[in-house]
Amino acid sequence: MRIERLARIGCLALGMAAVAQGQEREIAVGLDNSQAVPFALLAQAQATAARIYAGVGVKLRWRSQAATEIWIQFDTGVAAGLYPGAMGYAMPYGKTGTSIHILLDRVLSAGSQKLAGVLLGHVMAHELGHVLEGISRHSNSGLMKARWDDHDFDQMLVRPLSFNSEDADLVRVGVARWQCWAGPDGRRHVTRRARSGRR
Ligand SMILES: [Zn+2]
Repeated sequence: MRIERLARIGCLALGMAAVAQGQEREIAVGLDNSQAVPFALLAQAQATAARIYAGVGVKLRWRSQAATEIWIQFDTGVAAGLYPGAMGYAMPYGKTGTSIHILLDRVLSAGSQKLAGVLLGHVMAHELGHVLEGISRHSNSGLMKARWDDHDFDQMLVRPLSFNSEDADLVRVGVARWQCWAGPDGRRHVTRRARSGRR
């Protein structure tokens, strides 16, 4: 166990060096119940999220749920009392794996039809940002803002919102950490404990 731990620390050091050199990193993200999302809308959302992460040197690889530790579930018909006003939430260390829940009905009713796919991609990218950063924080502007306003929605249609520099650094380090803590079977070997979800 000790050797395993040292190997992971060494891996993380190498990962941090790669981050410092600006090398592109990859992270696999599974999608669950994605059939609830119209195909064209999901494609636009994936392209938007991928573009946001490409901006910080991270390549998103979309997978089926079973093959990944971070997965996004699309929920419909969720009670209004669950995280009122939120369009998604993350369960970073949930018992069933690290999951992101997208409250699809709320996303689709939040803006115009034109905005729907782009907004969905932003919500997916935002919640994934929480998981990768590993801490509960929001920024005053950009993708990791707690609540987007009309100006942000208008901006999304022009070009995706981006991570600010602090978030970008945390995300890059988070990707390196995820890669080192995953075992050869792709599962993450850490002690699990349930945490409350967050927006
Ligand atoms: Zn948030």
